[in-house]
Amino acid sequence: MKNLRCPFKQNIKQSLLLTMILIKERKPVLAKLETVDCGKPLSESEADMDDVIGCFEYYADLAEGLDAKQKAPISLPMKTFKSYVIREPIGVVALIVPWNYPLLMATWKVAPALAAGCAAILKPSELASVTCLELGEVCREVDLPAGVLNILPGLGPEAGASLASHPHVDKISFTGSTVTAVKIMTAAAQRVKPVTLELGGKGPIVVFEDVDIDKAVEWTIFGCFYTNGQICSATSRLIVHESIAAEFLDRLVKWSENIKISDPLEEGCKLGPIVSRGQYEKVMNFISNAKGEGATILYGGNRPKHLKKGFFVEPTIITDVTTSMQIWREEVFGPVLCVKTFTTEEEAIELANDTHYGLGGAVVSKDRERCDRVSKLLQNGAVWVNCSQPCFCQAPFGGTKWSGFGRELGEWGLESYLSVKQVTEYVSDEQW
Ligand code: NAD
Repeated sequence: MKNLRCPFKQNIKQSLLLTMILIKERKPVLAKLETVDCGKPLSESEADMDDVIGCFEYYADLAEGLDAKQKAPISLPMKTFKSYVIREPIGVVALIVPWNYPLLMATWKVAPALAAGCAAILKPSELASVTCLELGEVCREVDLPAGVLNILPGLGPEAGASLASHPHVDKISFTGSTVTAVKIMTAAAQRVKPVTLELGGKGPIVVFEDVDIDKAVEWTIFGCFYTNGQICSATSRLIVHESIAAEFLDRLVKWSENIKISDPLEEGCKLGPIVSRGQYEKVMNFISNAKGEGATILYGGNRPKHLKKGFFVEPTIITDVTTSMQIWREEVFGPVLCVKTFTTEEEAIELANDTHYGLGGAVVSKDRERCDRVSKLLQNGAVWVNCSQPCFCQAPFGGTKWSGFGRELGEWGLESYLSVKQVTEYVSDEQW
């Protein structure tokens, strides 16, 4: 691969910008393909494409800036030596992505990997690979040298597992479930390969008593039901102050009643179908297990009556939840919100951190100092204050605990595809 890296690196900014321009031109087609493939509302696929475009543009700039950072000198305590650092592409990288944001998750990896000068093999999810294949077509059209970006569709246990254990793959960047991550880490460990893992979540949204209830309800809905609830960083555990809980839940139900569930290509759709029969059944099982364990389905819990076909699930709100219940502990990956109340700030933080996961978390309050305090104490890789989910390609994204390690996006995303080398030179012989 060495021959590929050097000539390619000189044109990387241009290649990334041309890719961005072609995706911009094809946005309507790509957004429609994404919706048909994974079921998210068309307006959300359009928003994804805007983020894809922004991400390619951002890493085109960082690729250019990288050259200026080469040979950065290091200050040493002895004048007889001088030392500098160079950053090199880590090599051939395998990029394994899920189905909930097919092209966007791919872009979070492809753009920085190419900006770093790596050669990449992208493995889309078998449940939604169309837009990733289109990305391959775009890269061909912008004359990316053959072999620099390879798209390898296939089943996880076959195509994905082969990449994880392949001797010529130098790094794996994976986004998906914690169960799969363990398999990938195990394979990577046999060859001491670095891995970046972006995994699942069971995020809290902590709502204090001083909030504007309608605004907080809106963010709660968005934080749990966006992308049909299939978001890794979804804030799917609502932890609300007991003094406002009754009114909050009342308004939450009213908002939920107004969510338009329909064919995701239909104008105004806010909730489309779940991605597959398997995932639909998994979500329904979570709901019936919650009932079986004694929780109350305050709203939803069924297939909507007006839709006879498709894997649709109503937005679902579950109360009377205990911390030992499955619905509190495990990631559903569907439009299901579970609720607990709290009395003190300490109790709220304890409930928020009462999970193996640590991806996204949110705090809602008008008290600035309280927001700062709680943000610091939440054991999450991303904390949102007075909102939930906004994501910018300039800011690092990733988790703690079972939600994985390493960071994507921002400069951190680029660094994860670079290997840092120190060069130290003896410059004086006065000590000899
Ligand atoms: P998954 O783990 O089943 O699959 C993810 C990818 O891994 C797919 O491409 C799949 O083919 C591949 N794969 C499966 N088995 C493999 C194996 N043995 N070896 C190598 N690759 C294998 O996850 P999913 O169902 O596609 O996605 C849902 C999960 O992804 C959820 O847990 C969600 O939270 C997580 N996710 C996390 C983020 C994040 O940024 N942290 C973003 C999106 C989704």
